[in-house]
Amino acid sequence: MRTAVVGAGIAGLACTRALVEEGHEVTVYEAAAHPSGRIATLRTNGVSDQSGIVADHGARYFSARFERFLHEVESWIDRGEAARWQPRTVAINDAGVPEAQIERLMRFVGVPTMDAPLRALATGLESRAEFRYATPVRTIHHASGDWVVTDDSGRREHFDAVATAVPAPGAVQLLTEVAHLHTAAARVPMAPCWSLALRFAERLPLDYDAARVNLGARHEHAGVLAWADRESSKPGRSEDEVWVLQSSDQFAREHIGSDESEISTVMLDAFFAATGIDRIDPAAHHARLWKAALPVAPLCDGCLYDEQLRIGACGDWCMGARVEGAYLSGLAMADRLNGRHRDFLATCSLAHHSA
Ligand SMILES: Cc1cc2nc3c(=O)[nH]c(=O)nc-3n(C[C@H](O)[C@H](O)[C@H](O)COP(=O)(O)OP(=O)(O)OC[C@H]3O[C@@H](n4cnc5c(N)ncnc54)[C@H](O)[C@@H]3O)c2cc1C
Repeated sequence: MRTAVVGAGIAGLACTRALVEEGHEVTVYEAAAHPSGRIATLRTNGVSDQSGIVADHGARYFSARFERFLHEVESWIDRGEAARWQPRTVAINDAGVPEAQIERLMRFVGVPTMDAPLRALATGLESRAEFRYATPVRTIHHASGDWVVTDDSGRREHFDAVATAVPAPGAVQLLTEVAHLHTAAARVPMAPCWSLALRFAERLPLDYDAARVNLGARHEHAGVLAWADRESSKPGRSEDEVWVLQSSDQFAREHIGSDESEISTVMLDAFFAATGIDRIDPAAHHARLWKAALPVAPLCDGCLYDEQLRIGACGDWCMGARVEGAYLSGLAMADRLNGRHRDFLATCSLAHHSA
């Protein structure tokens, strides 16, 4: 079967590997110049002279509750592509008053960067599937029993089956010819997030590595930040003092159109107000808006699929959200394309609450 997979995030890559193992001829279309999607690592120029930054500015970590994903994570750990991360974590509800948290969640990160296991997975598949990077798919049409995938340059290719592995708003745009899939994807809103990576010339006087921030409503900086953590506390990173701040979804919604420098100032002010330490100007900073960071109310379907038409959608928004959900969704998609169907409902609600 000639199958197109649209998206080389973790869902698309997990799906691709399972498909090639069952004999599909797979073509992977990826809009970006590299794989990994929202498991993203920022690399700006000038790291050696302190003017640049390397930091994970999408997913900060992932959990692994279910056997199928745990096995994958164990194989990444065995190859040195991932490791457990145990940050000293606090909650900051009152500015300057961190409360130590006892965390039961087991966190993992890619090593030396979050995208490392995904890049390795894609590299391992390159001899078994056709990868088209920097090739966004524009439309997917049904014609004479085939699916015709048209990319941004106007190039058209025919396939027997298609799996989209893109965030819900992208699936809505691509699945216009399959009404029930289109409608299901349109029902899953995704929350935005501003992510700010900061590099400081000196270590900040904070005796914790990660903070869940939720300042009280009356605080001047309430509602700006949701999370902050120290990159160098993760295994395999450099000693550089790099922090990544993530905004609340409400803040991101209200500042979708704002410019990066304005957002950087507001988030930095909120960070120093929340931590209660004296302000230090960063040597480098980089803000990025993720318009579709996390699904607000993800489905629990594993994936969406039309068996007759052989087209479907997978991704975190189909399966409980987050990295683990996206991985399991990619496998569910491959199962459906291979004529198998599992009930993911119980798995899904647990996955949703674990992250
Ligand atoms: C700021 C932020 C923080 C997060 N924190 C965490 C966390 O701490 N823990 C956690 O578990 N999860 C976290 N997540 C969520 C996690 O990153 C996602 O759940 C997971 O990576 C989703 O994987 P996916 O494969 O479904 O989608 P994606 O990773 O989004 O992959 C989709 C791919 O499709 C490509 N694409 C899109 N449209 C097209 C098109 N038309 N043609 C071709 N290619 C296309 C994209 O470029 C992308 O590479 C976070 C996400 C963000 C943004």
